[in-house]
Amino acid sequence: MKIAIIGAGAAGIIAALQAIGEKTEVDLYEKNNSFGKKILVSGNGRCNITNINLKEDNFIGQDTTFVEYLFKEFGFLEFKKYCEKIGLFLKIKENGKVYPLSNEAKSVLKIFEINLKEKGVNILLCKPVNFIKKIDNKFYIYTEDGDEKKYDRVLLCSGSKAAPKIGGNDSGYKIAKTFGHNTNMVYPCLVQLETVSTNCARMAGVKIDSEVSLKINCKKHIKVKGDILFTKYGLSGFAILDISPYVSKLLLEQKKVNIFINLLPDYDKLELLSIFENIKKFHNRYDILTMLSGFISLKIAKVLLSELKINQNKMLKEMSIKEMRAVVEKIIDWCFEIDSTHGFDYAEVCGGGLRISQINPKTMESKILKGLFFAGEILDITGKRGGFNLAFAWSSGYIAGKNIGKLS
Ligand SMILES: Cc1cc2nc3c(=O)[nH]c(=O)nc-3n(C[C@H](O)[C@H](O)[C@H](O)COP(=O)(O)OP(=O)(O)OC[C@H]3O[C@@H](n4cnc5c(N)ncnc54)[C@H](O)[C@@H]3O)c2cc1C
Repeated sequence: MKIAIIGAGAAGIIAALQAIGEKTEVDLYEKNNSFGKKILVSGNGRCNITNINLKEDNFIGQDTTFVEYLFKEFGFLEFKKYCEKIGLFLKIKENGKVYPLSNEAKSVLKIFEINLKEKGVNILLCKPVNFIKKIDNKFYIYTEDGDEKKYDRVLLCSGSKAAPKIGGNDSGYKIAKTFGHNTNMVYPCLVQLETVSTNCARMAGVKIDSEVSLKINCKKHIKVKGDILFTKYGLSGFAILDISPYVSKLLLEQKKVNIFINLLPDYDKLELLSIFENIKKFHNRYDILTMLSGFISLKIAKVLLSELKINQNKMLKEMSIKEMRAVVEKIIDWCFEIDSTHGFDYAEVCGGGLRISQINPKTMESKILKGLFFAGEILDITGKRGGFNLAFAWSSGYIAGKNIGKLS
């Protein structure tokens, strides 16, 4: 049996290792001049390779129950065992995040590379697949350089549009469409956000521990804790990346999106107001900026006061209770209107993708066309930050690889 796998990322690599056998040849097509580029950059070069909490609620997509099937068969323990078998040892860190024991993405790729070579997977680099045709039970693969090759089965795992500099593109969705597969609209996820106002630019470089919440139609919706970095274009930091899938989806639906930043999540409004009133009582030579500098960064305090049109040198004793309340309100619930995400170029992953209702989760085979399989980020399943995206790529790739070579 001859199998073609399109895309040598996490999903394609593990699938190739599963699919190859004595009577099965595997060609692994990759458009880049090297494979596994996203693995290399993952986790800032440390590769947050998976997570121990592989549960449905750590995924976003039209039907996340899909992942339950996959992780039942190839969950964290099975993946760990698999890795140890090929000599790759793992370490569990905070929040269930798992990294290679070496703490280096390079070592992950090195071990997979030698396994691909040992098993005889034919890796075809600089071979972008342009289109695929199925004629009389055979698949014909056409590459950009004009080559044409015939196969019995095909696995499409060419990833998403995220991070185009390292291979992200939409060719997989287009190829799948020619076989009748539908795509749910794709949008950038785990990405920075651009704001309408220029306030963030004035606070650029300041990083804070905070809580971010997303309100839709004045209703509080999602809350995320973590750091935020103010930048020239808007907002970055882990809390922003974590909330970005929800924001990005709303922007895609053309909704107006406001996010609310709590600069002091350990205090509530009443408590903070009473602390401020106390300071006012005992430090009557303080101005408002001096008082705020005891709580938040000076750069932030200046912007906050200018937005409230309160003179930063205003003495505390001259501050009315209404003004004090307004300061507290801003500190705890500062609204930023989001203009857009920072785009696919900066996104770690894509939301949306191929409709999973058209794919059998037990085999990863298309329900529309026999012999065509899918895996990885090309599908409408997006993991939260924490190793969930690679986890999905490994599991779906493993199951696709295991089933693609089976004679039916
Ligand atoms: C900066 C960054 C950091 C990340 N960090 C983490 C992390 O720490 N933990 C985590 O879980 N996830 C992380 N991710 C996400 C994770 O890397 C991806 O979700 C995962 O690698 C997807 O694997 P995949 O095999 O489905 O797709 P990909 O890794 O994208 O592989 C698809 C491959 O197909 C190739 N290709 C595309 N089109 C064609 C074509 N027409 N012909 C031939 N080849 C083609 C591409 O070049 C690519 O090599 C990160 C992503 C980025 C960008």
